[in-house]
Amino acid sequence: MARLILTPGKERSLFRRHPWIFAGSVERLDGRARPGDTVTVVSADGKPLARAAWSPESQIRARVWSFDADAAIDHAFFKRAVAASVARRASIPALQGQEGVRLIHGESDGLPGVIADRYGAVVVLQLTSAGADKWREAIVAGLVQATGCAAVFERSDSEVRGLEGLAPRTGCVHGELPAGTLTIVENGVRMEVDVESGHKTGFYLDQRDNRLLTGRLAAGRDVLNCFCYTGGFSLQALAGGAKSVLSIDSSGPALDSARRNLSLNPQLDAGRAEWHEADVFKALRALKDEGRRFGLIVLDPPKFAPSAAHAERAARAYKDINLFGFRLLEPGGILMSYSCSGGIGLELFQKIVAGAAIDAGVDARIIYRLSAAPDHPIGLAVPEGEYLKGLACQVG
Ligand code: SAH
Repeated sequence: MARLILTPGKERSLFRRHPWIFAGSVERLDGRARPGDTVTVVSADGKPLARAAWSPESQIRARVWSFDADAAIDHAFFKRAVAASVARRASIPALQGQEGVRLIHGESDGLPGVIADRYGAVVVLQLTSAGADKWREAIVAGLVQATGCAAVFERSDSEVRGLEGLAPRTGCVHGELPAGTLTIVENGVRMEVDVESGHKTGFYLDQRDNRLLTGRLAAGRDVLNCFCYTGGFSLQALAGGAKSVLSIDSSGPALDSARRNLSLNPQLDAGRAEWHEADVFKALRALKDEGRRFGLIVLDPPKFAPSAAHAERAARAYKDINLFGFRLLEPGGILMSYSCSGGIGLELFQKIVAGAAIDAGVDARIIYRLSAAPDHPIGLAVPEGEYLKGLACQVG
């Protein structure tokens, strides 16, 4: 096995159990390794520290599989790691009975580059690193064994694969997708999941708990849901007894799916729902001009800042929508505002929202700090895994 020799001092992040080895930390590779091969990571003074996957094309040159430098990285290793990840979800009461659950959340579950989401009998797998890609078969076998699922569908079409020199790959890797539309029930609401071409692996599982909270806060309120996608927040708001729900998205197909989702739930009062295909930045201004007011507003935009380099422009976009969000609230109204940008930390996000409230001339306080659901854990050693943050703010 090849040995990755670190430059002096670069062993420190490994002692803190951080799994990434950047190009600048690599002194040299002793021996030969192809992309995805396992290498032994060795400190500059010759101490073996870990076993990692070699990724020559990526700025992250290696990702650690095990901090035991003697660990065998083989089929059995992945079966154990997948089973352990699935078992952790099974032990969390809030996840029990959920049909849509993230089973593997990459680095946070000790499996860098591996995402697996279960939607009923189907598991969707996304592999984003050379090492994960190499162990596809073992990971699929582990998922089938741990879940008894009927099908594993691969959605390895994320852009980040390009950084690893990997081509996109989609299709069934175990079993067959069931005929017809795949649906899940999330906290009493049925939603269709398009595993073949929906966003992420087909659904935003990370917002599950926040959608439920929206439902609880929505009772008796006029709700505005911006960037509604397939209507997750909208339908939970209706289920929670919202007086009305206006949902906005710029994607026609997403709104079509949202309408189908509403019709999948005859228990909800469809007469209270209105769908609007528009650019949110423009629509918020138009609503303000029309003098509209809402008791609850959800802002769940796409990732404006994929990395810190985009932070400044993203900050202006977040400021803009939050400013109009606050302006559209009635007294006592609540703004639920999210950022899923890795490049914008919680502290900066809170500053942006605070600035928006000041500019809107409202007095607001945080009533909930929100994050991703517990099936999207954040490894304490890998804080950059925290991407989703939300603030629920109530105005006076
Ligand atoms: N809240 C959703 C997920 C939102 S994803 C859920 O819980 O499922 C972000 C959505 O924003 C996508 O549906 C995308 O079509 C939409 N979008 C992106 N830019 C937009 C814009 N400028 N105006 C309106 N919608 C936009």
